[in-house]
Amino acid sequence: MATVNTVMGPLDTSKLGFTLMHEHILSAVPPLLREYPELMGENPLGRTVAELKQVKAAGVGSILDATTPDLGRDVNFLAEVSHLSGVNIIICTGWWLTVPAVFANLSIDQLTAMFVKDVEKGIAGTGIKAGILKAAADMPGVTPELEKVHRAVARAHLKTGVPIMLHSYSPGQVGRQQLAILKDEGVKPERIKFDHSNDTTDTEYLLSLLDEGCYLGLDRYPGRNASPLARTRTMKVLIDAGYAGKLCPSHDRTIIGIQGDATPPAELERRKLNPHGYLYIKNVVFRQLKEMGVSDKVIDSLCIEGPRNFFEGK
Ligand SMILES: [Zn+2]
Repeated sequence: MATVNTVMGPLDTSKLGFTLMHEHILSAVPPLLREYPELMGENPLGRTVAELKQVKAAGVGSILDATTPDLGRDVNFLAEVSHLSGVNIIICTGWWLTVPAVFANLSIDQLTAMFVKDVEKGIAGTGIKAGILKAAADMPGVTPELEKVHRAVARAHLKTGVPIMLHSYSPGQVGRQQLAILKDEGVKPERIKFDHSNDTTDTEYLLSLLDEGCYLGLDRYPGRNASPLARTRTMKVLIDAGYAGKLCPSHDRTIIGIQGDATPPAELERRKLNPHGYLYIKNVVFRQLKEMGVSDKVIDSLCIEGPRNFFEGK
């Protein structure tokens, strides 16, 4: 029996149910969140609980909130909305792309100790424990400061056993560099999930990561650049190759974020593409997969088998 840390405590992996493995319930630049909460709009708690109750009623059991401290992780908020909505919420520790200058003075072991504390003791004295570790690299690849975070996340994984999610720039095949670093630290590929993998349609690259044993987060829907339909076609190729149980579809959607008056019109248009919110995959992508000939049995297993296998280290 395997368990995963949620904000409400440990949960048997068999009870995760339909799980979205990369979302952001609340995400913002930390000082803005704390000091200028008016930028988040009216009643963030009420809006979030209403939306989560709706997705729970539609069959979503668990959501992984991929918000690191540098993206404004707020464990008390997440615990409250989980309690009020009944949705299991798994939170992460680690770091995203905005590495502060002072990290240059911290050793890898110090970073490791920070992340281990979040998993074993809990975050900021709350006792709420992280269920996953996160590192990130984007278009410029794994820079020296990001490599430090990757190595610390790897060492925290080896100490705690909780798996690793990686923000990755799939169009540049940055996952190859990230995988090499984690393997160098002794991490097994089956404990790693490469996120934003559906930002590329290069299935040869994606299959090479799956062949290694890694999991893929197909976690931008509707997303930008690659169209939603192109993303679903990519998923179909990976399913046909026998990897349905290694895929984690999700949206990378923020419920509560900064409401910018100066948001570019193109971005506002993009958001209108998804009136389904956290149900886009259930409502749209599953229909597309069915039309492409994927069986009901496989479609029904998506967002259930992949997340569970990943937490069980299969
Ligand atoms: Zn994200």
